[in-house]
Amino acid sequence: MADLLLNAAAPFMPLPPKWLGLDLVLPSMLSEVCQLGTALTLHHSSDRRMREIVKSCDRVPFRELLSEVPRAKAADEARRAQLASKRLDWHGLKIQATLQKSLADSLTSSDLKAWTSNTSFITPTIANFARKGLLRCLPTNSNLHLWGKSPSSSCPQCHSVETEKHVLNNCSGSAEQGRYTWRHNAVLKLLLEHIKQHLPDGAELLADLPGHTHPSTLYSGIVPDITIVKDGLATILELTCCYETNMLASRARKLEKYRNPAGYSLLPYPFKVLTLEVSSLGFLSPRSLNEFCNTTGVTPLQPNDLRRLGEMALRCSFFIFCSRHKPWPIQPSDPFFH
Ligand SMILES: [Zn+2]
Repeated sequence: MADLLLNAAAPFMPLPPKWLGLDLVLPSMLSEVCQLGTALTLHHSSDRRMREIVKSCDRVPFRELLSEVPRAKAADEARRAQLASKRLDWHGLKIQATLQKSLADSLTSSDLKAWTSNTSFITPTIANFARKGLLRCLPTNSNLHLWGKSPSSSCPQCHSVETEKHVLNNCSGSAEQGRYTWRHNAVLKLLLEHIKQHLPDGAELLADLPGHTHPSTLYSGIVPDITIVKDGLATILELTCCYETNMLASRARKLEKYRNPAGYSLLPYPFKVLTLEVSSLGFLSPRSLNEFCNTTGVTPLQPNDLRRLGEMALRCSFFIFCSRHKPWPIQPSDPFFH
């Protein structure tokens, strides 16, 4: 199936939140269910002539449901079949469905539902940015060129093709200017606020941010984002703000990088390494983070705290996107929200 035009009705719209859809019933779907209802009434009529009408009609949606299920279940079965078909159509799109497919592989349906729910409460401008980013229809030069609105698909900073992934995570020029580090540190700061408030007695916190004991007091050659030493065990948490398609790869890369922290440690601790991936549009899985909290005795983050971590990444990504063709501020402030 060809990729959709920007203004085409998209099959993702009726999909449920766990599949990152909008949970909308399309008029065409409603019409099919109504036709099925009429056909069921005729099919089960005591009047033979009414039953003949259904038999002679060649356009009855879900004809197989007429006799095989009780009437009350037929509409549910039809709806399920419609959603399965829309999902198949949607996943057939090479470009627009890329992120949803990757996210479904790396996160659970409750992680995806949480994102959908959180996004519905956010400022409309940011929520629209998130949705367009998810569908890969942001006004990048790549898309604008495709739509006949830009003479070039290139990034003005580094001349690579300017896709969503390029702007939000992969531009070498942006990386050099610290745009992605700014987002990473904004999320890290928020996480550290929680950890500091809920650090158990006797635990020592090291973090790669100003205002904290620096990891260089414990390591030589590596700089983990967060280390908590408690009861003789050093637990590392490495944060990555990655693109939606890279959540599993980012985790694997970090685990490989921190395969042997004891080899870089100045003190003979046993180590445990955990990672947290927060995507550019604010997707995250709390599982490793919960394990980190359970191991270190820090109170686990509540759903509202997790929402704020994702929203911080998303809001920073929005600013990175809006500034893509502008100079980067010398000291950008972190986004503020409740
Ligand atoms: Zn670039």
